[in-house]
Amino acid sequence: MTLAVAQLAAIVATALFIFSLHWMNDPKTARHAVVAGVTAMLVAVLATWFQPEIVHHGWIVLAIVGGFVVGVPLSLVPLTAVPQRTALSHAFGGLAAGLVGTAEYFLGLGGGQHGAPLTTFRMSALVAEVILGFLTFTGSLMAAGKLQEVKWIPQRPVTYPGQNFVNIGVLAIAVALGVLVTLQPATAWSPQAFMAIVGLALLFGVLLIIPIGGADMPTVISILNSYAGLSAVAMGFVLGNKLLVTAGALDGSSGLILSIIMCRAMNRSFTNVLFGAFGTVQKMAAVGEQKAWKQETVEGAAQLLEQASSVVIIPGYGMAVAQAQHKVRELYDQLTKRGIKVTFAIHPVAGRMPGHMNVLLAEANIPYTALAEMDEINPEMPQCDVALVIGANDVVNPAARYAKGSPIYGMPIIDADKARTVLAIKRSKSPGFAGIDNELYVQDNTWMLFGDAKAVLGDLVKQFGSGGLH
Ligand code: NAP
Repeated sequence: MTLAVAQLAAIVATALFIFSLHWMNDPKTARHAVVAGVTAMLVAVLATWFQPEIVHHGWIVLAIVGGFVVGVPLSLVPLTAVPQRTALSHAFGGLAAGLVGTAEYFLGLGGGQHGAPLTTFRMSALVAEVILGFLTFTGSLMAAGKLQEVKWIPQRPVTYPGQNFVNIGVLAIAVALGVLVTLQPATAWSPQAFMAIVGLALLFGVLLIIPIGGADMPTVISILNSYAGLSAVAMGFVLGNKLLVTAGALDGSSGLILSIIMCRAMNRSFTNVLFGAFGTVQKMAAVGEQKAWKQETVEGAAQLLEQASSVVIIPGYGMAVAQAQHKVRELYDQLTKRGIKVTFAIHPVAGRMPGHMNVLLAEANIPYTALAEMDEINPEMPQCDVALVIGANDVVNPAARYAKGSPIYGMPIIDADKARTVLAIKRSKSPGFAGIDNELYVQDNTWMLFGDAKAVLGDLVKQFGSGGLH
């Protein structure tokens, strides 16, 4: 492949990556975004593969087959497992960058016979690539393990006195060794120092994640995405590959922006997420006297819904777990058929990843026009006849407004409690992800429908179909 074609391919792929990110902004163009992203990646892989120095290495096909063997099953995981799947992808990206960096260093040690000479610029890029790549590898593996609730990885934050000092110390030693190796890349001790950097980066990835609780993992994954992108930028400089530089920069910046959006939606600061040990069991001050949970029958709930003129449905993680979106659609059809206004209130961090609810509702063909963002719907909540909470908990917990000791204090919530009547579907009295009680469920105007969301909604829909409700 000529240089001109390779450069053209790099420009086309970069443009497609940019369009892909842009189209992701809107559900209507999100499918185009996926196609553009996949096409860009394909162009990038083919353009790289057909480089003269690569194409004659037939064994590269083995690596591609290996990628497919791991990648295809990973693409088939359920939507609720996408955050940990994404973490694994970052882990592989980080590992690839780290290994390429290590190989390039040792090839370069031969005085430029096997690889490019180890200039100061090249060494700086190599050190950055290796530190970021390997810390992303172990950090992402830990994050994936926490989200998958792997038994031997503690879910709760593991903290000890002086933890931040130890963490920053490990990173500082790695960076200091990196400076030394950059200045003296080929002296007797340099290879050992380089391998020490690798070891410290691997260790730092683990240390970085253990103090962070499960609830913050999606944000952390997006920060790790950013690190993986930056290590790809460094790798692009090492390999002289412009496409890696641009794609890595897009990856790095979009990951950072996403983390900031998620932190804002949860009203948390970056440093709070990274060092705050969110998710530790915190005892909340008891709010008022212990109130009783009131249960409603499916028949009673159906009547309440039928008599309403405006219903706001607030979906959460439980809807995703139950895969209840299609039953939600059936209920939506039944209610709208009766002239009832139905709006879906979407909290930015409902579920376990950004856009989780939007994706599920789109899968069930619920019109985008029926979806309202939190800021849009909250002023209307006092006029809402029934707020139907489906497997949501933290995102409707009024404690976020005033309970200073609570881990969700300050997080904007959907004002379900302000509706005239609240119907809440969940299986038990267990708390949500933040592990705290929710007074919404024991409010005077709240009625519980205990059970799996899909089953309860199925029963509700039956009431409208065959019951006395016409
Ligand atoms: P949540 O607070 O985790 O609560 C989910 C509720 O669903 C639980 O109370 C659970 O109660 C219920 N549930 C589980 N399975 C169910 C089933 N099969 N049928 C019916 N109910 C079921 O969820 P959320 O309100 O969506 O809040 C999301 C949380 O994740 C927030 O704390 C948010 O900060 C955090 N988070 C999200 C993101 C993101 O990007 N979306 C990122 C970072 C953090 P039972 O067990 O009693 O059924």
